[in-house]
Amino acid sequence: MAKRSFRHEARTFAVLFEIMEFPTALRQLIHVPQNVAIFSHRNPDGDAIGSSLAMRHYLELFGHNVHVLFPSEYPEEFEALPGAGEILIWDLQPEECKQVINKKNLLIFLDFNALDRIDKLGDYVRDLPVQRIMIDHHLYPDSIADFVFSEPLASSTCELVYEFIVGLGDRDKINPNTVGKCIYTGLVTDTGSFRHATNSNVFRIAADLVERGMDDTGVQDMIFNSNREKNLRLLGHCLSNRMEFYPEFKTAMIWLSRKDYEQFDIQRGDTEGVVNYLLSVKDIRIAAFIHNQPTVVKLSLRSKGNIDVQEICKKHFKGGGHKNASGAYSHDSLKATIEKFKSILPEYKDRILAG
Ligand code: 5GP
Ligand code: MN
Repeated sequence: MAKRSFRHEARTFAVLFEIMEFPTALRQLIHVPQNVAIFSHRNPDGDAIGSSLAMRHYLELFGHNVHVLFPSEYPEEFEALPGAGEILIWDLQPEECKQVINKKNLLIFLDFNALDRIDKLGDYVRDLPVQRIMIDHHLYPDSIADFVFSEPLASSTCELVYEFIVGLGDRDKINPNTVGKCIYTGLVTDTGSFRHATNSNVFRIAADLVERGMDDTGVQDMIFNSNREKNLRLLGHCLSNRMEFYPEFKTAMIWLSRKDYEQFDIQRGDTEGVVNYLLSVKDIRIAAFIHNQPTVVKLSLRSKGNIDVQEICKKHFKGGGHKNASGAYSHDSLKATIEKFKSILPEYKDRILAG
Protein backbone atom coordinates (compact mmCIF):
# COMPACT_ATOMS: atom_id res chain seq x y z
CA MET A 1 0.00 0.00 0.00
CA ALA A 2 1.23 3.48 -0.82
CA LYS A 3 2.48 5.50 2.11
CA ARG A 4 -0.08 8.06 3.19
CA SER A 5 0.85 11.18 5.03
CA PHE A 6 -1.26 13.78 6.77
CA ARG A 7 1.59 16.20 6.63
CA HIS A 8 0.40 19.12 4.57
CA GLU A 9 2.55 22.14 3.94
CA ALA A 10 0.75 24.00 6.67
CA ARG A 11 2.02 27.39 7.69
CA THR A 12 0.63 27.24 11.18
CA PHE A 13 -0.46 24.64 13.62
CA ALA A 14 -4.10 25.73 13.58
CA VAL A 15 -4.28 25.46 9.80
CA LEU A 16 -2.86 21.97 9.93
CA PHE A 17 -5.80 20.64 11.85
CA GLU A 18 -8.39 22.48 9.82
CA ILE A 19 -7.25 20.80 6.64
CA MET A 20 -6.50 17.42 8.11
CA GLU A 21 -8.47 14.72 6.36
CA PHE A 22 -8.76 11.14 7.37
CA PRO A 23 -8.85 8.61 4.50
CA THR A 24 -11.71 6.11 4.66
CA ALA A 25 -9.23 3.26 5.04
CA LEU A 26 -7.89 4.83 8.22
CA ARG A 27 -11.36 5.54 9.60
CA GLN A 28 -12.22 1.89 9.09
CA LEU A 29 -9.06 0.73 10.81
CA ILE A 30 -9.98 2.78 13.86
CA HIS A 31 -13.73 2.28 13.99
CA VAL A 32 -13.83 -1.47 13.19
CA PRO A 33 -12.33 -3.84 15.80
CA GLN A 34 -8.74 -4.94 15.08
CA ASN A 35 -5.92 -6.62 16.92
CA VAL A 36 -3.76 -3.65 17.85
CA ALA A 37 -0.28 -3.28 19.33
CA ILE A 38 0.81 0.17 20.51
CA PHE A 39 4.52 0.90 20.85
CA SER A 40 6.51 3.71 22.38
CA HIS A 41 10.19 4.46 22.89
CA ARG A 42 12.94 3.23 25.24
CA ASN A 43 13.03 5.02 28.60
CA PRO A 44 9.36 5.94 28.18
CA ASP A 45 8.45 9.35 29.59
CA GLY A 46 5.08 10.86 30.50
CA ASP A 47 4.26 11.58 26.86
CA ALA A 48 5.16 8.07 25.72
CA ILE A 49 3.10 6.36 28.36
CA GLY A 50 0.31 8.95 28.34
CA SER A 51 -0.20 8.81 24.57
CA SER A 52 -0.01 5.00 24.52
CA LEU A 53 -2.54 4.48 27.29
CA ALA A 54 -4.84 7.23 25.96
CA MET A 55 -4.86 5.52 22.57
CA ARG A 56 -5.51 2.16 24.18
CA HIS A 57 -8.49 3.40 26.18
CA TYR A 58 -9.90 5.21 23.14
CA LEU A 59 -9.57 2.15 20.87
CA GLU A 60 -11.09 -0.18 23.42
CA LEU A 61 -14.33 1.80 23.17
CA PHE A 62 -14.63 0.40 19.64
CA GLY A 63 -14.01 -3.21 20.69
CA HIS A 64 -10.37 -3.45 19.58
CA ASN A 65 -8.10 -5.93 21.31
CA VAL A 66 -5.20 -3.70 22.38
CA HIS A 67 -1.81 -4.24 23.99
CA VAL A 68 0.80 -1.60 24.81
CA LEU A 69 4.48 -2.59 24.49
CA PHE A 70 7.65 -0.70 25.51
CA PRO A 71 11.29 -1.73 25.09
CA SER A 72 12.14 -0.78 28.69
CA GLU A 73 10.41 0.00 31.99
CA TYR A 74 8.61 3.27 32.71
CA PRO A 75 9.14 5.53 35.76
CA GLU A 76 7.37 4.41 38.90
CA GLU A 77 5.14 7.48 39.25
CA PHE A 78 3.18 6.52 36.13
CA GLU A 79 2.07 3.22 37.67
CA ALA A 80 -0.97 5.20 38.82
CA LEU A 81 -2.20 5.74 35.26
CA PRO A 82 -5.13 3.51 34.26
CA GLY A 83 -3.83 0.44 32.42
CA ALA A 84 -0.13 1.02 33.23
CA GLY A 85 0.10 -2.31 35.02
CA GLU A 86 -0.73 -4.25 31.84
CA ILE A 87 2.01 -2.74 29.67
CA LEU A 88 4.38 -5.39 28.30
CA ILE A 89 8.12 -4.67 28.59
CA TRP A 90 10.49 -6.33 26.11
CA ASP A 91 13.46 -6.14 28.52
CA LEU A 92 11.49 -8.16 31.09
CA GLN A 93 9.35 -10.46 28.94
CA PRO A 94 10.54 -10.72 25.31
CA GLU A 95 8.80 -14.04 24.57
CA GLU A 96 5.43 -12.78 25.77
CA CYS A 97 5.90 -9.64 23.66
CA LYS A 98 6.57 -11.75 20.56
CA GLN A 99 3.52 -13.94 21.17
CA VAL A 100 1.29 -10.90 21.56
CA ILE A 101 2.69 -9.15 18.48
CA ASN A 102 2.21 -12.28 16.36
CA LYS A 103 -1.57 -11.95 16.77
CA LYS A 104 -1.71 -8.30 15.72
CA ASN A 105 -2.81 -6.82 12.39
CA LEU A 106 -2.37 -3.13 13.27
CA LEU A 107 0.68 -1.50 14.85
CA ILE A 108 0.58 2.05 16.22
CA PHE A 109 3.85 3.88 16.84
CA LEU A 110 3.57 6.77 19.31
CA ASP A 111 6.13 9.42 20.32
CA PHE A 112 8.98 8.14 18.13
CA ASN A 113 9.72 8.22 14.43
CA ALA A 114 12.48 5.69 13.75
CA LEU A 115 12.43 1.98 14.54
CA ASP A 116 15.80 2.05 16.32
CA ARG A 117 14.06 4.02 19.11
CA ILE A 118 12.23 0.82 20.11
CA ASP A 119 15.37 -1.35 19.89
CA LYS A 120 14.67 -5.07 19.49
CA LEU A 121 10.94 -4.50 19.23
CA GLY A 122 11.76 -2.51 16.08
CA ASP A 123 13.72 -5.41 14.60
CA TYR A 124 10.89 -7.77 15.44
CA VAL A 125 8.12 -5.72 13.75
CA ARG A 126 10.16 -4.24 10.86
CA ASP A 127 9.03 -6.74 8.21
CA LEU A 128 5.66 -7.88 9.54
CA PRO A 129 2.90 -7.79 6.86
CA VAL A 130 0.55 -5.57 8.87
CA GLN A 131 -0.81 -2.01 8.78
CA ARG A 132 1.04 0.73 10.65
CA ILE A 133 0.08 4.15 11.98
CA MET A 134 2.64 6.61 13.36
CA ILE A 135 1.76 9.67 15.47
CA ASP A 136 4.75 11.73 16.58
CA HIS A 137 6.21 15.20 17.09
CA HIS A 138 9.97 14.63 16.66
CA LEU A 139 11.99 16.09 13.82
CA TYR A 140 12.94 14.17 10.64
CA PRO A 141 10.66 11.11 10.61
CA ASP A 142 11.67 7.86 8.92
CA SER A 143 9.12 6.16 6.64
CA ILE A 144 7.95 3.56 9.10
CA ALA A 145 4.16 3.61 8.68
CA ASP A 146 1.34 3.51 6.13
CA PHE A 147 -0.39 6.40 7.87
CA VAL A 148 1.93 9.08 9.14
CA PHE A 149 0.77 11.83 11.45
CA SER A 150 3.96 13.79 12.14
CA GLU A 151 3.95 17.34 13.46
CA PRO A 152 7.10 18.78 15.06
CA LEU A 153 5.18 21.95 15.90
CA ALA A 154 3.22 19.99 18.47
CA SER A 155 4.57 20.11 22.04
CA SER A 156 3.68 16.52 22.76
CA THR A 157 2.40 13.38 21.10
CA CYS A 158 -0.53 13.48 23.52
CA GLU A 159 -1.62 16.73 21.86
CA LEU A 160 -1.64 14.91 18.52
CA VAL A 161 -3.52 11.93 19.93
CA TYR A 162 -6.18 14.37 21.15
CA GLU A 163 -6.40 15.91 17.65
CA PHE A 164 -6.47 12.45 16.11
CA ILE A 165 -9.48 11.47 18.23
CA VAL A 166 -11.25 14.79 17.61
CA GLY A 167 -10.43 14.62 13.88
CA LEU A 168 -12.14 11.24 13.70
CA GLY A 169 -15.29 12.83 15.16
CA ASP A 170 -14.91 11.22 18.57
CA ARG A 171 -14.48 14.17 20.92
CA ASP A 172 -17.32 12.81 23.05
CA LYS A 173 -15.32 9.60 23.56
CA ILE A 174 -12.71 11.45 25.65
CA ASN A 175 -13.47 9.99 29.07
CA PRO A 176 -11.89 12.33 31.66
CA ASN A 177 -10.75 9.49 33.93
CA THR A 178 -9.03 7.39 31.29
CA VAL A 179 -8.23 9.02 27.92
CA GLY A 180 -8.31 12.55 29.41
CA LYS A 181 -6.01 11.79 32.33
CA CYS A 182 -3.48 10.06 30.08
CA ILE A 183 -3.46 12.88 27.51
CA TYR A 184 -3.04 15.49 30.23
CA THR A 185 -0.03 13.59 31.60
CA GLY A 186 1.81 14.00 28.29
CA LEU A 187 0.76 17.65 27.92
CA VAL A 188 2.18 18.49 31.35
CA THR A 189 5.40 16.45 31.17
CA ASP A 190 6.49 17.31 27.62
CA THR A 191 5.86 21.03 28.08
CA GLY A 192 7.49 21.28 31.54
CA SER A 193 4.14 22.26 33.05
CA PHE A 194 3.24 24.40 30.01
CA ARG A 195 6.43 26.46 30.18
CA HIS A 196 7.59 25.06 26.83
CA ALA A 197 4.23 24.88 25.09
CA THR A 198 5.06 25.36 21.42
CA ASN A 199 1.60 26.56 20.38
CA SER A 200 -1.62 27.93 21.85
CA ASN A 201 -3.55 24.76 21.04
CA VAL A 202 -2.00 23.03 24.07
CA PHE A 203 -3.88 25.36 26.40
CA ARG A 204 -7.16 24.80 24.54
CA ILE A 205 -6.77 21.06 24.90
CA ALA A 206 -5.96 21.39 28.62
CA ALA A 207 -9.04 23.61 29.09
CA ASP A 208 -11.25 21.12 27.27
CA LEU A 209 -9.98 18.25 29.44
CA VAL A 210 -10.53 20.22 32.65
CA GLU A 211 -14.04 21.19 31.51
CA ARG A 212 -14.77 17.50 30.96
CA GLY A 213 -13.95 16.85 34.61
CA MET A 214 -10.40 15.55 34.28
CA ASP A 215 -8.71 15.71 37.68
CA ASP A 216 -5.78 18.01 36.81
CA THR A 217 -4.63 18.38 40.43
CA GLY A 218 -4.56 14.62 40.79
CA VAL A 219 -2.42 14.23 37.66
CA GLN A 220 -0.02 16.98 38.82
CA ASP A 221 0.21 15.24 42.18
CA MET A 222 1.01 11.92 40.52
CA ILE A 223 3.77 13.50 38.43
CA PHE A 224 5.39 15.96 40.85
CA ASN A 225 4.59 14.86 44.40
CA SER A 226 5.70 11.28 44.18
CA ASN A 227 9.35 11.75 45.21
CA ARG A 228 10.98 9.70 47.93
CA GLU A 229 13.66 10.85 50.33
CA LYS A 230 16.35 9.29 48.13
CA ASN A 231 15.26 11.43 45.15
CA LEU A 232 15.88 14.64 47.06
CA ARG A 233 19.22 13.34 48.37
CA LEU A 234 20.24 12.49 44.81
CA LEU A 235 19.26 15.97 43.64
CA GLY A 236 21.31 17.47 46.47
CA HIS A 237 24.29 15.37 45.40
CA CYS A 238 23.93 16.45 41.75
CA LEU A 239 23.75 20.13 42.67
CA SER A 240 26.49 20.05 45.33
CA ASN A 241 29.04 17.65 43.87
CA ARG A 242 28.39 16.92 40.21
CA MET A 243 27.82 20.26 38.56
CA GLU A 244 30.27 21.95 36.18
CA PHE A 245 29.97 25.34 34.51
CA TYR A 246 31.61 26.49 31.26
CA PRO A 247 30.69 30.20 31.23
CA GLU A 248 32.62 30.86 28.03
CA PHE A 249 30.05 28.67 26.25
CA LYS A 250 27.08 29.53 28.49
CA THR A 251 26.88 25.81 29.15
CA ALA A 252 26.55 23.74 32.32
CA MET A 253 26.70 20.03 32.96
CA ILE A 254 25.79 17.51 35.62
CA TRP A 255 27.33 14.06 35.47
CA LEU A 256 26.71 10.86 37.40
CA SER A 257 28.97 7.82 37.60
CA ARG A 258 28.07 4.16 37.86
CA LYS A 259 29.12 4.40 41.52
CA ASP A 260 26.57 7.18 42.05
CA TYR A 261 23.94 4.85 40.58
CA GLU A 262 24.79 2.29 43.25
CA GLN A 263 25.20 4.72 46.13
CA PHE A 264 21.86 6.46 45.52
CA ASP A 265 20.05 3.33 44.33
CA ILE A 266 19.05 5.17 41.15
CA GLN A 267 16.13 3.48 39.38
CA ARG A 268 14.17 4.23 36.22
CA GLY A 269 12.87 7.79 36.24
CA ASP A 270 14.88 8.92 39.28
CA THR A 271 17.04 11.32 37.25
CA GLU A 272 14.11 12.82 35.30
CA GLY A 273 14.17 16.62 35.41
CA VAL A 274 17.63 16.99 36.97
CA VAL A 275 18.98 18.64 33.80
CA ASN A 276 16.38 21.41 34.00
CA TYR A 277 17.93 22.88 37.15
CA LEU A 278 20.90 23.98 35.05
CA LEU A 279 18.68 25.95 32.68
CA SER A 280 17.29 27.87 35.64
CA VAL A 281 20.64 29.67 35.86
CA LYS A 282 20.23 33.04 34.18
CA ASP A 283 23.02 32.97 31.62
CA ILE A 284 23.04 29.26 30.87
CA ARG A 285 21.82 28.44 27.37
CA ILE A 286 22.83 24.78 27.08
CA ALA A 287 22.37 22.20 29.82
CA ALA A 288 23.82 18.71 29.68
CA PHE A 289 23.18 15.71 31.87
CA ILE A 290 25.64 12.90 31.19
CA HIS A 291 25.16 9.79 33.26
CA ASN A 292 26.60 6.34 33.34
CA GLN A 293 23.54 4.10 33.42
CA PRO A 294 24.24 0.45 34.27
CA THR A 295 24.78 -0.55 30.61
CA VAL A 296 25.32 2.64 28.62
CA VAL A 297 26.22 6.32 28.96
CA LYS A 298 23.19 8.52 28.38
CA LEU A 299 23.22 12.18 27.34
CA SER A 300 20.34 14.57 27.80
CA LEU A 301 20.73 18.03 26.32
CA ARG A 302 18.45 21.01 26.81
CA SER A 303 18.69 24.53 25.42
CA LYS A 304 17.03 27.91 25.53
CA GLY A 305 15.79 29.84 22.50
CA ASN A 306 17.25 29.25 19.10
CA ILE A 307 20.06 26.90 20.05
CA ASP A 308 19.53 23.54 18.39
CA VAL A 309 20.67 20.68 20.62
CA GLN A 310 19.00 18.19 18.29
CA GLU A 311 21.72 18.96 15.78
CA ILE A 312 24.45 18.39 18.38
CA CYS A 313 22.95 15.06 19.45
CA LYS A 314 22.46 13.89 15.89
CA LYS A 315 25.78 14.99 14.46
CA HIS A 316 28.07 13.96 17.29
CA PHE A 317 26.24 11.21 19.16
CA LYS A 318 23.77 9.67 16.63
CA GLY A 319 20.86 10.76 18.83
CA GLY A 320 17.98 13.14 18.23
CA GLY A 321 14.78 14.64 19.60
CA HIS A 322 13.70 18.27 19.46
CA LYS A 323 15.46 21.59 19.01
CA ASN A 324 15.42 22.40 22.73
CA ALA A 325 15.40 18.87 24.20
CA SER A 326 17.35 16.00 22.78
CA GLY A 327 19.09 12.86 23.87
CA ALA A 328 21.58 10.24 22.80
CA TYR A 329 23.48 7.18 23.99
CA SER A 330 27.24 6.72 23.99
CA HIS A 331 29.12 3.44 24.14
CA ASP A 332 32.34 5.24 25.13
CA SER A 333 33.30 5.60 28.79
CA LEU A 334 31.72 8.33 30.92
CA LYS A 335 35.00 10.26 30.93
CA ALA A 336 35.43 10.01 27.16
CA THR A 337 31.81 11.08 26.58
CA ILE A 338 32.20 14.12 28.85
CA GLU A 339 35.46 15.06 27.12
CA LYS A 340 33.83 14.69 23.71
CA PHE A 341 30.93 16.88 24.76
CA LYS A 342 33.28 19.58 26.02
CA SER A 343 35.42 19.37 22.87
CA ILE A 344 32.50 20.14 20.55
CA LEU A 345 31.38 23.29 22.37
CA PRO A 346 33.78 25.63 20.48
CA GLU A 347 32.07 24.59 17.21
CA TYR A 348 28.81 26.03 18.56
CA LYS A 349 30.24 29.03 20.42
CA ASP A 350 29.07 31.67 17.94
CA ARG A 351 25.57 30.27 17.79
CA ILE A 352 25.36 29.93 21.59
CA LEU A 353 26.39 33.53 22.13
CA ALA A 354 24.06 34.75 19.39
CA GLY A 355 21.12 32.55 20.46
P1 5GP B 1 15.69 12.79 27.23
O1 5GP B 1 16.93 13.61 27.29
O2 5GP B 1 14.67 13.26 28.21
O3 5GP B 1 15.93 11.32 27.29
O4 5GP B 1 15.07 13.01 25.80
C1 5GP B 1 14.78 14.28 25.27
C2 5GP B 1 14.14 14.10 23.91
O5 5GP B 1 15.07 13.50 23.01
C3 5GP B 1 12.93 13.17 23.92
O6 5GP B 1 11.99 13.71 23.02
C4 5GP B 1 13.45 11.86 23.43
O7 5GP B 1 12.46 11.16 22.75
C5 5GP B 1 14.60 12.27 22.51
N1 5GP B 1 15.70 11.30 22.60
C6 5GP B 1 16.33 10.89 23.73
N2 5GP B 1 17.31 10.01 23.44
C7 5GP B 1 17.31 9.85 22.10
C8 5GP B 1 18.09 9.05 21.20
O8 5GP B 1 18.98 8.31 21.57
N3 5GP B 1 17.78 9.16 19.86
C9 5GP B 1 16.78 9.98 19.41
N4 5GP B 1 16.54 10.03 18.09
N5 5GP B 1 16.04 10.74 20.23
C10 5GP B 1 16.27 10.69 21.55
MN1 MN C 1 7.05 13.44 23.34
